[in-house]
Amino acid sequence: MERRAISISGIVQGVGLRPFVFGLASQFGLCGFVKNQTGGVLIEVEGEDRSVDGFFVALMKRPPPLAQFEEVCCTSCLPQHDTCFRIEASSADATSLIFPSPDVATCDDCLAELFDPGDRRYRYPFLNCTNCGPRFTIIRNAPYDRERTTMESFAMCAECRVEYEDPHNRRFHAEPIACALCGPRLQAVDALGDPLTSGDPLEATVAVLRRGGIVALKGLGGYHLACLAGDEAVVAELRRRKQRDAKPFALMVGDLSIAHTIVEISKSEEALLESRRRPIVLLRRRSGAAVAVAVAPANRELGVMLPYTPLHHLLLRTLGSEPLVMTSGNRSDEPIVFEDEDARTRLAGIADLYLTHDRPIHMRCDDSVTRIVLGKELPLRRSRGHAPQPLTLQGGCRRPTLALGGQLKATFALGRGRHAVLSHHLGDLDHYEAYRAYVEAIAHYERLFAFQTELIAHDLHPDYASTRYAAECRGDIPRVAVQHHHAHIASVLAEHGLDEPVIGVAFDGTGYGTDGAVWGGEFLTGDCRSFRRAAHLRYVGMPGGEQAIREPWRMAVAHLADAGQQERGAWFDRIPAPSLSVVRQQLERRFNAPWTSSVGRLFDAVAALAGVRDRVQFEGQAAIELESLAFDVAADRAYPFEILQEDSSLVIDTRPLIAGVVDDRRAGAIAAAIGRRFHSTLVEVIATVCGRLAAATGLDVVVLSGGVFMNVLLTTETIARLTKDGFRVYRHQRVPPNDGGLCLGQLAVAAAWQEAGLVPG
Ligand code: ZN
Ligand code: ZN
Ligand code: FE
Repeated sequence: MERRAISISGIVQGVGLRPFVFGLASQFGLCGFVKNQTGGVLIEVEGEDRSVDGFFVALMKRPPPLAQFEEVCCTSCLPQHDTCFRIEASSADATSLIFPSPDVATCDDCLAELFDPGDRRYRYPFLNCTNCGPRFTIIRNAPYDRERTTMESFAMCAECRVEYEDPHNRRFHAEPIACALCGPRLQAVDALGDPLTSGDPLEATVAVLRRGGIVALKGLGGYHLACLAGDEAVVAELRRRKQRDAKPFALMVGDLSIAHTIVEISKSEEALLESRRRPIVLLRRRSGAAVAVAVAPANRELGVMLPYTPLHHLLLRTLGSEPLVMTSGNRSDEPIVFEDEDARTRLAGIADLYLTHDRPIHMRCDDSVTRIVLGKELPLRRSRGHAPQPLTLQGGCRRPTLALGGQLKATFALGRGRHAVLSHHLGDLDHYEAYRAYVEAIAHYERLFAFQTELIAHDLHPDYASTRYAAECRGDIPRVAVQHHHAHIASVLAEHGLDEPVIGVAFDGTGYGTDGAVWGGEFLTGDCRSFRRAAHLRYVGMPGGEQAIREPWRMAVAHLADAGQQERGAWFDRIPAPSLSVVRQQLERRFNAPWTSSVGRLFDAVAALAGVRDRVQFEGQAAIELESLAFDVAADRAYPFEILQEDSSLVIDTRPLIAGVVDDRRAGAIAAAIGRRFHSTLVEVIATVCGRLAAATGLDVVVLSGGVFMNVLLTTETIARLTKDGFRVYRHQRVPPNDGGLCLGQLAVAAAWQEAGLVPG
């Protein structure tokens, strides 16, 4: 006789592991027990030697689909002479890290039941099982049990109870188990807040949508706003009511075959669309797609996702083959609305109807956004379906460390040992609502993971809300400041487990530099521990500061002035004379015109010069449009540029480039052609600078990070070129290159500093 205790950490709770273990133990004729514990799951099995071995091998080889084992510890213990195998109640004592599962899309078994008229859950919008359903967004506390979720208030009916307690049932201990008799209910509420008392809520919703109305739909992580995507008038109306400038709206379509009618989809993109995480995938729009232009103006792509809750499936199937706009329920950059009362207030005047239900959402969670580049994923927003699944941190944090991220596209991360738990997307902290959500989410994660923060890592920028949070709200905890672009580079290193010095190319819009200037066109050499600013774009003024981000024409004027081109061309005629003279004075007197080396701002300048746009409604809009235009133009020669040696670093002189753009413009070149040459120029700049740095240092690894590398054209061509030049090139595959991935890099830097004994207290 042999008894063995197996403790497993990782994603092991709420993923059907216990019934699976139960089944496996019966199969091998073993006694003992399995239970959730705060550190994960504990299994004790007793029986014949061979059977115990067989059990262990089977468990390791093919665990249930949603489980992810992190650490497995197996020890022999004294036989207890049990007579059966039991599933025991949870114990909530230990303090180690547990990992609640992310929310998971409805599984095929549940989907079959949903549309089976003979099933007792036929058309029940909240069905789920241990292999699917809401998780992270309904969990109030650990360990994961029904009473610590928002399903607590729903008492199981007799039939659900039987399934819940039957180890052979797919719903054994499916904590959110429900049916029409005992579970959450759908409700339609009109624009005035009055519940519809007659008729089917789903039918009412479909009717409003078909009439060209806008519906607020309570989903998994918050409210979406939905309308028919093919209806130009209603999409324009949604934009107007939501005051959402020009940012693209995401779409939801019933299935893959409908998706194929509006976008081009490769095999790897199909896999991503259909994955359990069900992210929004950016895909190439088909010409003639029945999708309103206003969905994604001036964009060659559409963000598409497939249904991920039973409610979505019911709604989309009732609608037929119509794609739906499915955009976050909020006003511009505020976080997604998730509480019912709040939805009524905030979405008042936007929604004609609310399709809601009585299962509370505990933690909001926006949709994730991703794409495929060169056959591999390039995440743009890591949120629903990912949070709070941990990433591995090579080396690991000695002390529990909280990394606060940046200011825009905010996320934070908890690091303990080799685990890095990244939060869901929290939006732009400029907005008070977003900041409040951010602070609440930090408290929630710390509680959920029983996390005692001992060290805080934040951005070097003194005025980021995240930096102020560290100083003002967590002042008793030692903290370290990490330079923005160092964190960007470190995030790639952390993702790939790289522990060697590299050349880091960090191109983005804005990041606080060690000299107080606005950095964003940086070549760093170093590793997680330290870096040297080896090269950067030549400084130009940013006239009006932040205003220059919203008005790219200002950056055009700044670059023209820098390049000595201010007297040339009719370009200036478009700008009102008083504005132009203010900007010129700001530049001349260096008043409210901080120095910047930002590539994002250079993109803005070139886009404005090319005539793409002078004003943007969100950061990066001009650059995205320039890329879109350039995409289908054949590669063309680069504009000239120079590389100068200044003190200890190289400076990329953009003046010849600007002069080249002006010449092209005067010769009548179209924006797409200028955009194409500009992309080639950046590739050439990167290749030249990396070549020079490699020659000087012997480094042969290049990593790419920063929001500019969301640009597919630039990323693809840069990787091809650097690879051809003999470099090993790494880019993001698991966290976004934009500031949404910053916290992982901060964690990696803080971990390296801890390792080197460079951290206070
Ligand atoms: Zn299921
Ligand atoms: Zn029931
Ligand atoms: Fe950045």
